[in-house]
Amino acid sequence: MANAPGGREGREDREDREGGPVTIFGPDFPFPFDDWITHPSGIGSIPAERHGEEVAVIGAGISGLVAAYELMKLGLRPVVYEASQMGGRLRSQPFEGADGVVAELGGMRFPISSTSFYHYVDKLGLQTRPFPNPLTEAAGSTVVDLEGETYYAGSLGELPPLFTEVADAWANALEEARFTDIQNAIRARDVATLKSFWNDLVSRWDDRTFYDFVASSQAFSKLSFRHREVFGQVGFGTGGWDSDFPNSMLEIFRVVMTNCDTDQRLIVGGAAQVPRGLWRCPAPRPAHWPQGTSLASLHRGAPRPGVARIAREADGWLTVTDEWGSTRRYSTVLVTCQSWLLTTQIECEESLFSEKMWTALDRTRYMQSSKTFVLVDRPFWKDKDPRTGRDVMSMTLTDRLTRGTYLFDNGEGQPGVMCLTYSWMSDALKMLPEPVERRVQLALSALRKIYPDLDIASHIIGDPITVSWEADRHFLGAFKGALPGHYRYNQRMYAHFMQGKLPAAERGIFMAGDDVSFTPAWAEGAVQTALNAVWGIMTHFGGAAHPDNPGPGDRDDTLAHLDLGD
Ligand SMILES: Cc1cc2nc3c(=O)[nH]c(=O)nc-3n(C[C@H](O)[C@H](O)[C@H](O)COP(=O)(O)OP(=O)(O)OC[C@H]3O[C@@H](n4cnc5c(N)ncnc54)[C@H](O)[C@@H]3O)c2cc1C
Repeated sequence: MANAPGGREGREDREDREGGPVTIFGPDFPFPFDDWITHPSGIGSIPAERHGEEVAVIGAGISGLVAAYELMKLGLRPVVYEASQMGGRLRSQPFEGADGVVAELGGMRFPISSTSFYHYVDKLGLQTRPFPNPLTEAAGSTVVDLEGETYYAGSLGELPPLFTEVADAWANALEEARFTDIQNAIRARDVATLKSFWNDLVSRWDDRTFYDFVASSQAFSKLSFRHREVFGQVGFGTGGWDSDFPNSMLEIFRVVMTNCDTDQRLIVGGAAQVPRGLWRCPAPRPAHWPQGTSLASLHRGAPRPGVARIAREADGWLTVTDEWGSTRRYSTVLVTCQSWLLTTQIECEESLFSEKMWTALDRTRYMQSSKTFVLVDRPFWKDKDPRTGRDVMSMTLTDRLTRGTYLFDNGEGQPGVMCLTYSWMSDALKMLPEPVERRVQLALSALRKIYPDLDIASHIIGDPITVSWEADRHFLGAFKGALPGHYRYNQRMYAHFMQGKLPAAERGIFMAGDDVSFTPAWAEGAVQTALNAVWGIMTHFGGAAHPDNPGPGDRDDTLAHLDLGD
């Protein structure tokens, strides 16, 4: 794979996966989505007499558009509704006047273990490059600033020993949870072994927090409180993780065991090109539709407006009413917006889901996140300080307000982009009431304490760009962050695409997206749940997966989640 070396191996290698790459294969539902969508026989078919029938797809984010694209290939007519911007939380906002230079307001770094996501990136021919994460070669240099002390380094080993002790403690703590064994089972795609190790962790850790894991691990128990604190502030792979300390430890296990936190790449020109590209991309050899058919051509250019109501009529058909009052009838509806919107933005008939499902949809919890970007005249941070020979500024991790500052070099002669601050939870809430100018001032003031001799403001050109996802009524939060005790809710939402055992009154409405996924905050989870929904919709239309290429719902007996009981 050109873009994601090691992300996927050729099909001939599948027999011998022992040394295969770590991918987002489960661990909760270890189905090989990447193999399913690349199988030469295709993913399946629906009966010809149902070709051309409409399916409502609510939301034009990555999950909605992956699902719509695959449903179009199966010969259905997806009708996409979007209340806000196409691309959803893959939002690359261009800086005015700077062609192709964007602020990545949502997803911005994509681990190569996201093999289904990269399938679509590659299909669209998009270029990627390493993301400038802390202490990586792509960042060049990193500054860690904690409790007023500032350290400059190119790699972990150049930081004071405390940081290596923290990194080692984290690695050892994970081994207490069989990290290497689980990764080996993922590499080998050995479902039985993976499930036995993972289910053991589910029963022991669903009820307990990330902080509990760190504090009670043998590795950290031997060390000081300061080690835990530094771990929270500097974290692993991508930056500080203390915002996640209250989350269920299972969330964190999933991230590290599937390598979501390592080998991340950015999409040159912006991640929004993935969903937007799928909108325009002609389906190769679609069932029913003429060659060259795309989602854009089926919609005559634009999606339908936002959805205001979903209901069921007496004859069993579902109706979708848009915000301008137009109502259309469908046998099948796919909802991909955040599930809280089913009780805030959309009047959704209660009988469409069981009470247990409503509990899961409403109790699901979102994390807050804020980012503020500025365009600068050039990547001035690479200038050398004549006194020290060091970069005048670096990718910066700090316990101050900014938390993480990321620097994007767009190449010779191009303006640079600074993500002055990317923060979550309490740190994001501190920014929430502030307008963009004040956010920039607050960030610059924090950075001035770390770089007293550097005039960052003198490099700023154009208007700054900011986001607080929790302030947007079409999202209400950045992404799911499951709390202790939420495994059952996750499981209910995730498995809902297998509707064989549901009462008739609850069938035909499907869900996909970040908050349905077991790996929220990673686009791969949105893609995988979209593919689950495609399987569910295909079978709902009387179709089936190709016999040589069983789909996610065909393997539920072996892949089924652990039932923790009520
Ligand atoms: C700050 C942030 C950072 C992230 N970082 C990363 C990262 O680095 N790497 C990574 O892999 N992932 C990252 N993610 C996660 C990734 O962006 C998401 O998993 C993914 O984009 C979610 O896609 P989705 O289709 O499930 O949902 P969405 O993108 O939210 O799509 C749902 C769509 O539904 C629309 N909608 C809402 N209400 C209605 C309505 N009434 N009618 C019609 N449409 C409606 C919304 O406008 C939206 O476009 C990040 C997300 C955020 C917010």
